[in-house]
Amino acid sequence: MTTARTVLITGGNRGIGYSLAEEFIAQGHRVAVTARSGEGPEGSLTVLADVTDAASIDRAFTEVEAALGPVEVLVANAGVTKDTLLLRMTEDDFTSVIDTNLSGSFRVIKRASKGMLKARFGRIILISSVVGLYGSAGQVNYAASKAGLVGIARSITRELGSRGITANVVAPGFIETDMTAALPEATQTEYLKSIPAGRFATPTEVARVVAWLASDDAGYISGAVIPVDGGLGMGH
Ligand code: NDP
Repeated sequence: MTTARTVLITGGNRGIGYSLAEEFIAQGHRVAVTARSGEGPEGSLTVLADVTDAASIDRAFTEVEAALGPVEVLVANAGVTKDTLLLRMTEDDFTSVIDTNLSGSFRVIKRASKGMLKARFGRIILISSVVGLYGSAGQVNYAASKAGLVGIARSITRELGSRGITANVVAPGFIETDMTAALPEATQTEYLKSIPAGRFATPTEVARVVAWLASDDAGYISGAVIPVDGGLGMGH
């Protein structure tokens, strides 16, 4: 059994974030999730926050700290897509996805790092995507935001690694959630053909890897990109 930690997951009201919360609860941790609406699973504390708004993040952390103690494990999971081809992509399509996925992660990590530095312990896990390193037509904005997370994790590793803080990226492939259900059926069929595992993954398969990265066993792993993609990215 790993040490019980205070865990905060952004975007824990549905999809992968919800499964992450369920998994951390099942493993005996104290779990809080951020939501803009709705709630995390039973046994979690739901706090309101929009990752594009630093003040709302600060309020959410303060609430979690008061109820569960300082955040020891942060999972930056909240993310959006606004897919379209480059020539049709507006500046707002680009910057709004960056603002949520990349700048949003920066905001929550910055806020979490205060307590982690004090405790000289922290686990930061960034939910990227296989397309961050693989690229994807129609996802210039999304892929850029997800690739940027690798730079964040590796820079944090260099900056805070000596303080007991690790930062790693998990890069899921095609996971069955609302985000992927919204893709056209032809795109889904096309993806399926390119996945060596021959199937999509469940959110639980991502959650177990993230929980392991937060566990005592993974204390010497930092700056890594861990794929959970059925072989789609061939290890990247
Ligand atoms: P969903 O669309 O099912 O859920 C996205 C979550 O992010 C929701 O909880 C949503 O909250 C939250 N969110 C979005 N914008 C904000 C914001 N501004 N502030 C706070 N929360 C926000 O997506 P998934 O569960 O599929 O994806 C979770 C993560 O995994 C994302 O980062 C995604 O890019 C990544 N990913 C997903 C893959 C997949 O195949 N599904 C593959 C690779 C990566 P709300 O309900 O309020 O909108």
